[in-house]
Order: sequence, then C-alpha cells, then structure tokens
Amino acid sequence: MRYRFSFRVWRKEMRVPLRTAHGPWGEREGIFVRLEAEDGRVGYGEIAPIPWFGSETIAEAEAVCRALGAAVDDRVLDAVATRFGCVRFALAAARAEPATPDAKVRLPVAALLPAGRAALAALPDRLAAGFLCLKWKVGVERPEDELAVLDDLLAQLPVYVRLRLDANGAWDRRTAERWLAACAERPVEFIEQPAAPEAPDLLLGLAADYPVTLALDESVASLASAREWQARGWPGAFVLKPALAGPLPELVAWAQATRPDLVISSAIETALGRAQFLRTVLAQGLTKRALGVGVGPVFGDRRWDGPVTGALLEAGWCDSVSPEDLWNATS
Ligand code: MG
Repeated sequence: MRYRFSFRVWRKEMRVPLRTAHGPWGEREGIFVRLEAEDGRVGYGEIAPIPWFGSETIAEAEAVCRALGAAVDDRVLDAVATRFGCVRFALAAARAEPATPDAKVRLPVAALLPAGRAALAALPDRLAAGFLCLKWKVGVERPEDELAVLDDLLAQLPVYVRLRLDANGAWDRRTAERWLAACAERPVEFIEQPAAPEAPDLLLGLAADYPVTLALDESVASLASAREWQARGWPGAFVLKPALAGPLPELVAWAQATRPDLVISSAIETALGRAQFLRTVLAQGLTKRALGVGVGPVFGDRRWDGPVTGALLEAGWCDSVSPEDLWNATS
C-alpha cells in the first residue's frame, strides 16, 4: 500500500509539572503523524518520546519523519529502525484498523497518590471515587519517614483496595531489602523498579529473596528489553508503556505467545495515542492488572487529556477521543 505521509511537531505546557527522578517536567513535546492510504483511508498516530526513560529524543523522531518524505509505502514504513520505538508505535497505529473492544469490558485504573505524607491527605478522595488500586511513589524522601507513612496508609486501606509502590530505581541494596521485608505479607500489589536498571543482578536477587511481587518499569522501556528479562527468568511483572514499546501488534503477539504478567502504563501521551493502545488492551484482554493510566488531566484540556478517567475504564472512553480533532488542534 502507498500513502501520503505528514506529521506535526507540537509542544504543550502541562497543567502541573510532573515530579520525576530527573527533576520537574513541565512541557510535553510530541509529534502527530497522518497517513492517507491510496484507497482513501486516513489514520493518525502519536509519537510521545521520554528520552530519559530510554526512548529516542524528539529531535531524532522528527529527523526520522523528515527522512520518510511525503510519499511512503509499507516497505519504507517497516524499515524504520527498531530503536525508534515511539515512531514505530505511531506509524503502526496510523496504519491499523482500530480495535473494537466489547462495550461491556472494563478494566480498573490505578490512581496516583502524591509522594510523601501528602498521600494520606489524598487517600479519602481516591477511595470515595471508587479506585480499587492506588499507586504511591517512594524513594523520594527518607526511608524511615516513608515507611512510617506506609504503615499509616495501609492502616487506612479497605481490604478490597491494593497499593502499588514505585521506587523508580532509587533504592540501594540495603534500602530495598528494608522495604521488601516491610512489605512482606502486606496488601502491596507489587513494587515497581526497586533498584536501578543498571543493577540487574540486584533486581533478580531481590525478586528471589522476598515474597512481595516486583515489577520492572525503567528496565523494560522497549519490548526487546522485556524479552531479554523474560529470557533471564524474571519472575515478576513487566510494566510496559505501549507508546514507547514499538508497534502494538508486536506487543500483542509477545503477550499472547508468552503470557507475561503485564501492567499497561501511560507514557504521558495525549488521548490520541492512549485511546489507540487502550482499545487493543481492552479488546485482547492483555492484562489482569489495573491500568497505569490514572495520571489525571495532564494538560488541563479535554481534547488532549480525553475524558476524566474514573475507577473503571471502558471502550466508551476510547470512542470519545477524536484523533482528527487532536491533529487539527496542532495546525
Ligand atoms: Mg514506574
């Protein structure tokens, strides 16, 4: 198939800067792509890189788009190098027929709690909104302070709610061991990235020595790295951000063939890219875990954020997102 290809680079301020391990992140950069097939079908895709998470940069993605030119075919699109996972996600999505999940299928969404003691103040609202899974960032303040907050949080948690912790690779061995011991036999769903991706042996050792489930996130920015960890015998979960991982059909094929314990997570993409992968996740039953898409209104703009995400996500959320509206918003 031959296509007319176009792309638009955009920059948009976030409503509130996100706190990351690399400092505050206040402005999202991305690229929307558009493919018009010779049969008249038009498809859109989103490139949403997070370079400090291991993806290509926005400049690299733009260079790839520029090199593609205005007239492309499937052979040219398939030849984009594997390391440009975000570009490949977008091009595959723009070519694919959107998945059509059953309207009755729903998946729980994990709501984010603020770091530190502020999590306790935010808890009642999240529970009142019906969230069954909460995520709390740790490794931000002193472990003894955070461990005290953990006790208070768990004491207030109804038995039907589970807590996931995300250390973003911040802990050394001693700190990680202390936390993993403290979390044993507690209602902790899993601990995300307890040690840095540069310490694979430590991660494997921790997973073997403690009963709490561990999940890799920073370690598996690409599908290729998830495959490597799987081959090493990683016994825990894999947090994958489809917008970084490459073409969605490859992710689906891997998940169906090997049945990993998969957590699907946002890469702070707009509603355009998120609706595309959520359609597939809902249609294919890719995960048994709450979706890591409870990031709130990142842009404070309904078109860009999509509808407010509640405790359960269903196909209707995806249906209410118009890729064309987002494309037009960048003109
Ligand atoms: Mg994480």
